[in-house]
Amino acid sequence: MSFQVFGLPVSRGVAIGRAVLVASSRVDIAHYFIDESRIAEEVDRLRRARNTVADELSALQRDLPADAPHELSALLDVHLMLLHDETLTGATRHWIEERHYNAEWALSAQLEVLARQFDEMEDEYLRERKADLEQVVERLLRALAHGNGAAPPVGSHVGARDFAGEDPLVLIANDIAPADMLQFKQSVFTGFVTDVGGRTSHTAIVARSLDIPAVVGAREASRIIRQDDWVVIDGDAGVVIVDPSPLLLEEYRFRQRQSELERERLARLRHTPAVTLDGERIELLANIELPGDTLAAVEAGAVGVGLFRTEFLFMNREGELPGEDEQFEAYADVIKGMQGLPVTIRTVDIGADKPLDRMSVGELRHEHALNPALGLRAIRWSLSEPNMFRQQLRAILRAAALGPVRLLIPMLCHLGEIRSTLDAIARAKQQLVDAGRAFGDVEIGAMIEVPAAALVIDMFLDHFDFVSIGTNDLIQYTLAIDRADEAVSHLYDPWHPAVQTLVARTIERARARGKGVSVCGEMAGDPTFTQTLLSMGLRSFSMHPNQIATVKQQILRADTRRSTTGRPAADAQLH
Ligand code: PEP
Ligand code: MG
Repeated sequence: MSFQVFGLPVSRGVAIGRAVLVASSRVDIAHYFIDESRIAEEVDRLRRARNTVADELSALQRDLPADAPHELSALLDVHLMLLHDETLTGATRHWIEERHYNAEWALSAQLEVLARQFDEMEDEYLRERKADLEQVVERLLRALAHGNGAAPPVGSHVGARDFAGEDPLVLIANDIAPADMLQFKQSVFTGFVTDVGGRTSHTAIVARSLDIPAVVGAREASRIIRQDDWVVIDGDAGVVIVDPSPLLLEEYRFRQRQSELERERLARLRHTPAVTLDGERIELLANIELPGDTLAAVEAGAVGVGLFRTEFLFMNREGELPGEDEQFEAYADVIKGMQGLPVTIRTVDIGADKPLDRMSVGELRHEHALNPALGLRAIRWSLSEPNMFRQQLRAILRAAALGPVRLLIPMLCHLGEIRSTLDAIARAKQQLVDAGRAFGDVEIGAMIEVPAAALVIDMFLDHFDFVSIGTNDLIQYTLAIDRADEAVSHLYDPWHPAVQTLVARTIERARARGKGVSVCGEMAGDPTFTQTLLSMGLRSFSMHPNQIATVKQQILRADTRRSTTGRPAADAQLH
């Protein structure tokens, strides 16, 4: 029977496909399709991994000390039994043979199916066997990754978007870390749903950059949607429809076609200059997460990169941070990719909902942050790790010899931080001079994303060449609501007069002082704010490449002389 799950709209459009449920802890496993010709080989990988795990468990059983508790041996028996149970390995083989999933994906898909069955068992003892099953699957995944079940050669798999004959797939998970979301840039999924997350959580931001329909904060979705259910994701309304009726399906297929036509129409604006009705030329820049994103930026007609979130280079590396040369290569790739257009590189903004690894930054430092959004985040972390920071600064300065670069510092607040940051930049330059290395000139800018910074904007303008308003954080900190927490997402209000006042004042003061000012938070890519920001005096917007055409369309119809428009009527009843 058809039912709906409500969440927050993140990325526009409609996706229709079969649900793939993935446990949050396993989102990072590879998801790809196996070529018909390689199915047997993939099944063999699974078989070999099972043999490896069977050997491991038997060896553990054999080597148990004579005085080991009986429960231990009984537990290993249970694990061996689960390993050989047809409902695990037989059904996993089925996902490979019938659906062409790679072995890791097939295993996690089957684990999700079985875990539900365990959850629904009356008998508590049997219910608790779910943990054993998870441990067995962990062992199998490890064996696939390391042992004689090595990953197949590159090229042996194809992405869903090229894979005719398969139903489209949508991913349903409790949560997806921003770094894990990144790996879906080239993925088989045509839509996403997560239980948790706010509209401007970093998971949502990366989902938006993928330009496929997504809904976050759908609370119970991953519990009530089942593996393989047919699902419609309405990314405009934030609704997920499970098992839709034929009539509803037809309606959504129609909307899907309409939105594709709209995209094609908008794409034709690519070469049209962004000029308002009263003749003001507006700069439309791109926000990117990885060097590979520059292609989308150039294709969308961006006139530069307004925000390169470099922290994505630092994530999921198990504490091994990228060194100066590796970073230099990444920045050089972006500069080359942008073909002479300016590139704004933001220093690392780790912390809050962007942990370095699955462990938090706090854990990396053997501490636990109680309030990570208010903790050692962004520039605070950089200043507490001077070697790491100077390496990044040197890499950016060296890359600036290859093309126009602007250096952007996140989350500054205090004069002391400003001084320490400028001092670190000066030292990094001096080190390059001493080492006889080439480097380029950079403009230095500050993100205005803490209310305190907006309130003392003139102090920032005294020290920096430009400012960029990070509305995502500015809203979070002004209204004291966690941007990643769906429980307070109804209070995340970009139209709140306090937020609008801080944004307007920052723009006004920067212009009065003849300094560059742009907005690089999600507000910049939201067409409902375009006229208001233009009326405030904003002439530079930075957003996901896929939002550029829609905002440009608004600009072509806008007049900067109009007075600030304020909250649209449709939004008024909410607040
Ligand atoms: C912002 O806070 O608006 C911003 C652009 O930075 P991030 O979203 O990466 O925190
Ligand atoms: Mg921010």
